[in-house]
Amino acid sequence: MSTRSESSTRTSPNDPCAPEKLLSPSRSIRLRTAIPGPRSLEILARREAAVGRGLSRSTSVVADHAHGVLVTDVDGNTLIDFAGGIGVLATGHTPESVVEAVQKQTEKLFHLCEVVGTTELYVSVCERLNGLMPDTNPVSIAKKSILSNTGAEAVENAVRAARSFTKRPAVICFEGAYHGRSLLTMTLTSKYDAYKRGFGPFAPDVYRLPFPDLYRRPAELSENAYIDQMIAAFDHALVAQVEPSAVAAVIIEPVQGEGGFVPTPMRFMQHIAKRCQENGIVLIIDEVQTGFGRTGTMFAIEQYGVTPDILVTAKSIAAGLPLSAITGRADIIDAVHVGGFGGTYGGNPLACAAALETIDLIERNKLPQRAAQLGTLIRERMAEWQAELPMIGDIRGMGAMLAMELVDDPISKHPAKEMTARLITEAAQRGLILIKAGLYSNCIRLLMPLMIPEEQLNEGLDVLGEALLASVN
Ligand code: PMP
Repeated sequence: MSTRSESSTRTSPNDPCAPEKLLSPSRSIRLRTAIPGPRSLEILARREAAVGRGLSRSTSVVADHAHGVLVTDVDGNTLIDFAGGIGVLATGHTPESVVEAVQKQTEKLFHLCEVVGTTELYVSVCERLNGLMPDTNPVSIAKKSILSNTGAEAVENAVRAARSFTKRPAVICFEGAYHGRSLLTMTLTSKYDAYKRGFGPFAPDVYRLPFPDLYRRPAELSENAYIDQMIAAFDHALVAQVEPSAVAAVIIEPVQGEGGFVPTPMRFMQHIAKRCQENGIVLIIDEVQTGFGRTGTMFAIEQYGVTPDILVTAKSIAAGLPLSAITGRADIIDAVHVGGFGGTYGGNPLACAAALETIDLIERNKLPQRAAQLGTLIRERMAEWQAELPMIGDIRGMGAMLAMELVDDPISKHPAKEMTARLITEAAQRGLILIKAGLYSNCIRLLMPLMIPEEQLNEGLDVLGEALLASVN
């Protein structure tokens, strides 16, 4: 398999004494030591001693600072970041204008608490989100928002609103879904072993239905026949598992994130939206990972022609400052009694200042369109690799939200979990930060900053190609 940077000088990534490589000035990756280097090893040992072991880590990178697409570690190595803080950094690390906005805000007000008083920043972020909310209705319906800190908290708020509005208890979610780690959102989350083992009992009245993963459909079924079957299974569950009149909400990701970048098929999403509308069920679209341009439109749901009742956002909303939101029909959001929403930090002024500038930056730079272009470039490269490496079982996603599913062989599709872990290590040792995903932990997902220059994209993809080869052999 050919990689495009064969001419670059490579010393052994495992040699901590390796001299700084002679890299052409156009290359961004600069490796002075092995990854992890001596200072990183020291801190990793302290992490092991001081930090709970339940907190996993994808790589041994110990970061010192970062800008744009590049992370510099405590040993002075510079790496390309294709994880983007798990989809938080559409606008890259420390974007100048966001840093400036936050710095200005630090001199004015760190914290008031929106339950104590009002900041214009909180109101402005809500107004921006209300304006961005996808709406296919001929006359758009009034929107309102509530801010919080994490995706999980926002999902909790969405369910709160749906239950208050419908006065019903049940929530429907899907296999492969990820919605967070709080008790309710952990219950809504799939992938038992990693996220739920030993943590029960879980929240009641949550119903998990099958989700159409086209790659893993029964071999004898066409895509269309399989989607028909999944649609029938959804309808059957509304009889066999829970009555629509008991269902407050259906929550779904347009592209499953942690689940391995599995796009929801168009007909499946549209069917769910129709059933929700017919039965007065609140449709909660979780765009925590897909939102803010990643999939080629500001929100992925725009590509389905479906209007969410509640849209959940977080991650790339504020370039790394903790902020999340629900935005939805005003009558649904306002169904919650006064005092029913709250929290000490939600919509913190620093995070709101960051969000306003981040959203501007996304719009000014037309990042959704950029994501679509990146997606085409990345898919081309992945297809080249797949032609030569049968262990790349599937390439999928939307826009720049793309993943490769790695399997032992394309017939059995047995998940190549160890190879995926090896690939991440091989990539990090060569200066590329990657993360995995998938119910079987065998997908490599790409969440690089959408601001990435093409040169750095190609350099990162070159390294990914090399790491793929190294992890197969
Ligand atoms: N929903 C989705 C779709 C997510 O991808 C995530 C985080 N990966 C969450 C919810 C939870 O977000 P947080 O980690 O900020 O609680």
